[in-house]
Amino acid sequence: SNVALVRTVAELEAAHAEIVRQNDELERLASRDPPTRCFNRRAFYEKFEKAFVESHELDTELCCLMVDIDNFKRVNDQFGHAVGDQAIQAVASCLSTGLRLTDTIGRYGGEEFCLIFPRTTLAEASNLADRLRIQVETEAGVRVRTVSHLVTTVSCGISSTGFGARTPLELIDQADKALYAAKEGGRNCVMAHQLGVEVRLPH
Ligand code: GH3
Ligand code: MG
Ligand code: MG
Repeated sequence: SNVALVRTVAELEAAHAEIVRQNDELERLASRDPPTRCFNRRAFYEKFEKAFVESHELDTELCCLMVDIDNFKRVNDQFGHAVGDQAIQAVASCLSTGLRLTDTIGRYGGEEFCLIFPRTTLAEASNLADRLRIQVETEAGVRVRTVSHLVTTVSCGISSTGFGARTPLELIDQADKALYAAKEGGRNCVMAHQLGVEVRLPH
């Protein structure tokens, strides 16, 4: 009967909606790093590639920020791996709050994070990076309640599509070089890759 047919269609639609919901949930679970809720490396890279292509198509500047926790081996050595894990979570939380909807943060390695800022100039990105650096310096250690006065800082390296990177990997590589310079330059600072030289920012 028609009534039975309508019911079947409704049931199929409900079943379909449930499958869509479960797929979304699986995708969400598969793309995040549980302790930090950042995107994992694979999911982050997918988003990075999309943003990179878009920045080319729309001819807008895209910036990449690499962040690495300073002297982190000491934290593990002095206080143990569990405290180290808490410090990583605290840093992730400091970096994640206050990002714009278009920004993306990925956990790139153990205590390394990579962020992308679409439609952002190098000057804007370096101001943002310095704000995040200060946020970590003032808040991350305090959040780790198992240790009093844990000093936790990060070094930051920035790159921009304004300096000729042709692939996302090249942009990451440039940010990595700037990060290395930030480590060499004394840590807890932001450096930017510009025309083959690393520049301390903000000026
Ligand atoms: P630098 O300032 O030069 O970055 O010094 P560092 O000691 O932080 O050196 P590096 O970045 O090379 O070392 C990172 C250390 O972080 C090595 C590893 O034992 C530790 N680590 C990586 N992932 C994790 C993690 O998930 N949990 C904990 N507790 N430690 C981690
Ligand atoms: Mg590291
Ligand atoms: Mg480190």
